[in-house]
Amino acid sequence: MSRHTEEAGAEALRLDGVTKVYGRGDSSVVALDDVSLSLPVGEFTAVMGPSGSGKSTLLQCAAGLDRPDSGTVFVEGEPMTGRSEAALTRFRRTRIGFVFQQYNLLPTLTVMQNTVLPLKLARRRVDKRAAREILDRVGLGDRLDHRPDQLSGGQRQRVAIARALVARPRVIFADEPTGALDTRSAREILLLLRETVAVHSHTVVMVTHDPVAASHADTVLFLADGRMAGRMDVPTPEAVAERLTHLGDRHPGDNRRSEV
Ligand code: ADP
Repeated sequence: MSRHTEEAGAEALRLDGVTKVYGRGDSSVVALDDVSLSLPVGEFTAVMGPSGSGKSTLLQCAAGLDRPDSGTVFVEGEPMTGRSEAALTRFRRTRIGFVFQQYNLLPTLTVMQNTVLPLKLARRRVDKRAAREILDRVGLGDRLDHRPDQLSGGQRQRVAIARALVARPRVIFADEPTGALDTRSAREILLLLRETVAVHSHTVVMVTHDPVAASHADTVLFLADGRMAGRMDVPTPEAVAERLTHLGDRHPGDNRRSEV
């Protein structure tokens, strides 16, 4: 099946009225308030917003790591709600990849073993040559047999990224993937994510606080107070930073809302 021809314009991810409330009564916090969005296959989207605006909650709900209180998340048109925990885990393993800032590598496994672990867990064929190519691309081709404690923090994160890429999931969620990398490594990783979108039609959704990182995306979605607060196509670091400043100025409980 050719993803490029048959799925052009197809929907990779949809959130339909997703609401998430933490706590109860007076102390409850509406972390996501009726969020709806649609991301096509093969796009790189950054999610930005002030601290506490709901970015992590959005990522957790969209990736099936947390369940919304109401609303539905669809991956490739299939709803994630209404599944048992085991079914949700299977669904995630085949369709969704994660790149989290604090990704825990298994300390006793080598770089190569950590990288192919998701394939083993999903009982999929382990293509070590493909894994090696990805590790080459993230700059770890000469570290295949190293263990995590023999790597720098930046290198560990690159293993985490290789591990997400090697399973070739349809949607990759990345939470501050470049947060702990130096400028040059960060740029390499962003270009790598960009390349997976362009070459392999992955869909990447990245939470970041860095306008430069966000400017590598096709589109930036802005969140404020748990609501969508606009989008920017063809983002530049300056324009993103400027928009963020205004979002930061908003008052808590502000009811303004804009369509995405
Ligand atoms: P961001 O990632 O943009 O900083 P979060 O999604 O982490 O925002 O948080 C959104 C809101 O939900 C915040 O007000 C936060 O305090 C609250 N929140 C997040 N997680 C929890 C939790 N487990 N329990 C209670 N409140 C939470």
